[in-house]
Amino acid sequence: MGLRTGEQYLEAIKVRNKAEIYVLGKEVKDVTTHPFLKPSVMAFKATFDAPWEEDTKELARAWSPFINEEVNRFNHIHRSPEDLAAKVKLLRKISHKTGACFQRCVGFDALNTLYIITELMAQKGKTEPKEKFVEYLKTVQKKDLALAGAMTDAKGVRTQKPSQQKNKDAYVRVTEVTKDGIYVSGAKANITGVAASEEIVVLPTRAMGPEDQDYAVAFSIPTDTEGIKIVVGRQLNDARRMEEGDIDALPYFYNHEGLVIFDNVFVPMERVFLLKDWQYTSQLVEIFSAYHRQGYGGCKAGLGDVIIGATYNLAKQIGVEKASHIQEKITEEIFLTETMYSAGIAASLNAVQPCPNCWWVNPMHANVTKHLVARFPAQISQLAIDIAGGIIGTAPSEWDLKNPKLREYIAKYLQGVEGYTAEDRLRMVRLLENVSMGVAFMIESVHGAGSPAAQRIMFSRLYDLNYSEEVAKKLAGMKSNVRFTEKAEPWRETETEKLAKSKTAPSTEDKLSK
Ligand SMILES: Cc1cc2nc3c(=O)[nH]c(=O)nc-3n(C[C@H](O)[C@H](O)[C@H](O)COP(=O)(O)OP(=O)(O)OC[C@H]3O[C@@H](n4cnc5c(N)ncnc54)[C@H](O)[C@@H]3O)c2cc1C
Repeated sequence: MGLRTGEQYLEAIKVRNKAEIYVLGKEVKDVTTHPFLKPSVMAFKATFDAPWEEDTKELARAWSPFINEEVNRFNHIHRSPEDLAAKVKLLRKISHKTGACFQRCVGFDALNTLYIITELMAQKGKTEPKEKFVEYLKTVQKKDLALAGAMTDAKGVRTQKPSQQKNKDAYVRVTEVTKDGIYVSGAKANITGVAASEEIVVLPTRAMGPEDQDYAVAFSIPTDTEGIKIVVGRQLNDARRMEEGDIDALPYFYNHEGLVIFDNVFVPMERVFLLKDWQYTSQLVEIFSAYHRQGYGGCKAGLGDVIIGATYNLAKQIGVEKASHIQEKITEEIFLTETMYSAGIAASLNAVQPCPNCWWVNPMHANVTKHLVARFPAQISQLAIDIAGGIIGTAPSEWDLKNPKLREYIAKYLQGVEGYTAEDRLRMVRLLENVSMGVAFMIESVHGAGSPAAQRIMFSRLYDLNYSEEVAKKLAGMKSNVRFTEKAEPWRETETEKLAKSKTAPSTEDKLSK
């Protein structure tokens, strides 16, 4: 099949029999109709609609050599730098349809990460994980499955390694290995879109040593599995969705995050890709985080566009859009948005090829992208609040507008420029309030794909300060031992880049297909 429609996706996730999904302390069976989860399901659905919509179908479809069919880009293994750029562009465009995170990127990045990691394992003689992974990938692509990516563990005391923690389940771990599979316990935290997914791809969250080998595990599991409990997190304004309004409930699309508890869950061996392979965890984290950091240049720029459009409209509604300071502020919003996007595109087009049939993002650009994303959305939101006026935090509810005793007054006192109604103002205020101050733009931008400190560690690791110093010393007429290289940037290579350079052998996939 390769490509499903949004409706087919909705049908597939309707009933959960084995996993337990909790919202506000109560168990939910049908995630497609529950008022709390419905906006999230609709945002996820947008990724299934994209290949069928005229404006996104080019970007959202990709050709898979694994199943010789067109697949949804969210389940595609990047085959070129252009593929990576198409990802960023697609994310920007889908943000325009949802005004929210559409939750399918973590699974997408997890697939691409495991593709490279299992290839590296194969090149060191361990071919089985790659064979299992490619079989899994084919199933995902053929069925066009909705994946969540679960990397972040509960983590307990942050400065302690998994094996040092008092709570042995602070990181997901293997508790038993049988010939048929493994049993795992622990929890993954903040997992985007998990209740709306069909499969969870689980990865280790940090570099590990031999003492942590029970925690060095990567696998996939259907979301509806015995022993999985999902506790959906609260969000700003979440209870408004229960009110059945059509203005205060804006936006109609939203993301959710969940705490995913694995209570002695059995994983069949054919779905286990890393088992006690601690040697690969450092590179796995490096590869995954860079993929995920690159993507934010697309989706957050797309949300920036929504905010820019909303602030411009609100400025027009109150007649200030031509004021020089308003124009200046909107120009600043555009600059901040386009900077995030430019970095994401640079991370894509300056890509690295670690194996003949796979492409990884440029690690420096990807880390810069995410660091911009950790900072700029807050600035964009601040400008939006400035332009929107105090009403963004004080507007009456839609129930006031709909109350016959109040309607006339609200209509009279909320209206600005003729041609716009009080309802127009309220609608735009509600959209802006939720997008600019919501989880995806303000919180995920900071913490998603790792806290800001993680990117700063990467910059300082990658930037060759000694090289720049020698360059400066030479220009200052001091003794310098600079050795100019062909490379324009004073960057050190990551392990993945080094491998890309040293690699001459065909990929295992090539060997297997011969
Ligand atoms: C909206 C949202 C969606 C997300 N979606 C997903 C998802 O789909 N899948 C997924 O796997 N993860 C997801 N995440 C998790 C995300 O990757 C983590 O939030 C991020 O890595 C930070 O981890 P943490 O939240 O545990 O923060 P913490 O680790 O608690 O960090 C808090 C602070 O402590 C600092 N800190 C942490 N450890 C150390 C240390 N050892 N030494 C010094 N300082 C330290 C951090 O830099 C930070 O400043 C999501 C997060 C958010 C907010």
